[in-house]
Amino acid sequence: MTQAAPTQAKPRGRQFFANPGPTNIPDSILRAMDRPSIDFNDPDFIAVHDVAHQGIKRVLRTSQHLFMYAASGHGAWEATLTNLLSPGDAILILESGYFSDEWGVMAAKLGLKPRTVHADWRRGVDIAEVAAALKQDTAHAIRAVCVVHNETATGLTLPLPAIRDTIDAAGHPALFLVDTISSLASLEFRMDDWRIDGVVGGSQKGLMLPTGVSFSAASDKALAAHATARLPRHYFDWSVMRKRRHTSFVGTVPVSFFYGFQEAVRLIEEEGLDNVIARHHRLGEATRRAVRAWSGNNGPQLFCTDPARYSDSVTAILMPKGHSADALRATARNRFNVSLGGGLGPLNGTVFRIGHLGDLNEPMLLGALGAVEMSLRLNGVPHGPGGVAAALDYLTESAASG
Ligand code: PLP
Repeated sequence: MTQAAPTQAKPRGRQFFANPGPTNIPDSILRAMDRPSIDFNDPDFIAVHDVAHQGIKRVLRTSQHLFMYAASGHGAWEATLTNLLSPGDAILILESGYFSDEWGVMAAKLGLKPRTVHADWRRGVDIAEVAAALKQDTAHAIRAVCVVHNETATGLTLPLPAIRDTIDAAGHPALFLVDTISSLASLEFRMDDWRIDGVVGGSQKGLMLPTGVSFSAASDKALAAHATARLPRHYFDWSVMRKRRHTSFVGTVPVSFFYGFQEAVRLIEEEGLDNVIARHHRLGEATRRAVRAWSGNNGPQLFCTDPARYSDSVTAILMPKGHSADALRATARNRFNVSLGGGLGPLNGTVFRIGHLGDLNEPMLLGALGAVEMSLRLNGVPHGPGGVAAALDYLTESAASG
């Protein structure tokens, strides 16, 4: 009898998932979603929908309008642009990396005229250049300023209050549109206080759900702009959505998600949104301390070079020349069952990313950092010693100081 060729054994134990999206899904959210279908006009469901809807608005820190779609974040990008703008409208894209570029690519395909404030991806836009672009636009042709709050590809966060101030200082009436896909429920985000007009969010990152539902929040000013916006849309049309009876969905409502959203908001509010944000800061800083230690001996470096813009939800790490980020990720995955994010667009192969957002604690992060450190050694990548120890010291001090 011939024996079957041996297949590579899967590593045992739970996979440590250190991707920046989708993220870990808490067991209580999985349990909440694991239920039979329910009619989306059933009063029991409407009650759950309404609780979830209100809860997401509290996480967004808004009392204005929320529209949700059965779509990943790309759908909410498209919905936000098409509901607010007309063919040929100019928009200003603030470059931060792959996702700001992709939003601009989408805008151009939709018939908008994106103007980009270009930037080094390791730093993101210079706010003075944003001010100059707005001041130059004396005719107010720019209808919207589009910002990715947290650029998941490069691990940098743009300062939304400073951008709000810049738009105000220029006396510019443009709508302020923000992608909060990898910042919501992870970093400080205040839609109403920062007078953001259009917000793009998704289920699969700080909200800790599976991928598949995204949303736009809109200010009253945005709704007024929507009344005259002429880009074609139907499934995403806020006017069509507002005529729906119980929920805002144009088609079948993804009912299971709402049980998950309800539980996600409960978890976030049980911990306290400020504590959620503080936890993300601790985990982000611990990751950076590990990378700084590894960067010795010409090792891997933090991709973001502006400390004021370090992201607390994802760290992008640049490999030393001649060493593959994907080979490192393969070792972490195949040998240690740790999943890391890859480099996006031009960063493919040279950058890897550690996601530290959502349902994550210190030991989970230390496990991922440990796997990275072992993989650096196994792959012969030059690096300084003591990355995990540096993270551990910092996390211990943080725990001791409460
Ligand atoms: N914007 C940001 C900042 C993202 O991180 C992502 C995805 O990771 C997107 C937009 C696109 O969202 P999706 O992949 O859910 O369509």
